[in-house]
Amino acid sequence: MSRIAFIGLGNMGLPMAVNLKKAGHDLVVYDTIAAAREKAGAEGMTIAENAAAAVGNAAFIITMLPNGAIALRVFEDVVPAARKGAAIIDCSTIDVGSAKKAHEMASAAGLLPLDAPVSGGIGGAAAGTLTFMVGGSDAAFEMAKPLFDTMGQKAVHCGEAGTGQAAKICNNMLLGISMIGACEAFALAEKLGLSAQAAFDVISTSSGACWSVNTYCPVPGIGPQSPADNDYKPGFAAELMLKDLGLSQEAAAQVGQSTPMGLNARQLYDRFASGSGAGKDFSGIIEYLKTAARS
Ligand code: NAD
Repeated sequence: MSRIAFIGLGNMGLPMAVNLKKAGHDLVVYDTIAAAREKAGAEGMTIAENAAAAVGNAAFIITMLPNGAIALRVFEDVVPAARKGAAIIDCSTIDVGSAKKAHEMASAAGLLPLDAPVSGGIGGAAAGTLTFMVGGSDAAFEMAKPLFDTMGQKAVHCGEAGTGQAAKICNNMLLGISMIGACEAFALAEKLGLSAQAAFDVISTSSGACWSVNTYCPVPGIGPQSPADNDYKPGFAAELMLKDLGLSQEAAAQVGQSTPMGLNARQLYDRFASGSGAGKDFSGIIEYLKTAARS
């Protein structure tokens, strides 16, 4: 069993840390919010005075933070305090540029860095069924693999520094586009007098089949249970989809790749998340699309 420092105990971080603790690891944790620290304390974890104090004797350092700027600030604090040879695993979803900087900073100090964003959401974090998309060296991946297996059901080693973040934003860009496509199809079907059930029965078994239709259908009462059946409570919040679409546009601009559908998806989620979609699941964009003016 290992000493693990865990920084960032929010909606995702706390349940991930709880699963590591349950597996018998020794957890020393920190979050800037007192309430988050208290929850971790109630789970039997040791609370550090600050992030740097958490990492001293840790073999593994895991961060689960809101964005790249914060992740880099935390790395600036913890990297100099960490033990040489420790693995430092950033599970936050951040921009590829910051992820690469974090790798450089940690490697220069003799640490083994990984960018390892996740999919599976809060439910997957609690159940220990996350998927990890991992960028970094083979040695770092092999070292961290048992922890990924405790917190998740699958860890894919995508390549070198930053490729975990690249995989995450490419997947979520496609998801945003496909969800909008599914919503447009169901909204048009309704206006054409085709029932949602008939549309589902055809599309889910035809060439339009995709995860957004078959598994996470945006229409209430159709297909397997999904946030549509629970008044669009997240699930995966529209704001988080907007964040990931923003990261994919930033990355596309940096490498000069045209992503017109991704750009359009970001604009639509921007309008939805800043209006009626605030606090709603990303599949709720069907309601917005049904009432939006044709353009
Ligand atoms: P959250 O806001 O609930 O948690 C982030 C935590 O980091 C907060 O508790 C905050 O106090 C803490 N924090 C901020 N600055 C800090 C600092 N300097 N030092 C220590 N702690 C600090 O967010 P979340 O939902 O847990 O998401 C975390 C990351 O996971 C994000 O990058 C998000 O995009 C990604 N993600 C979230 C989901 C989801 O469904 N919530 C799914 C996949 C990926």
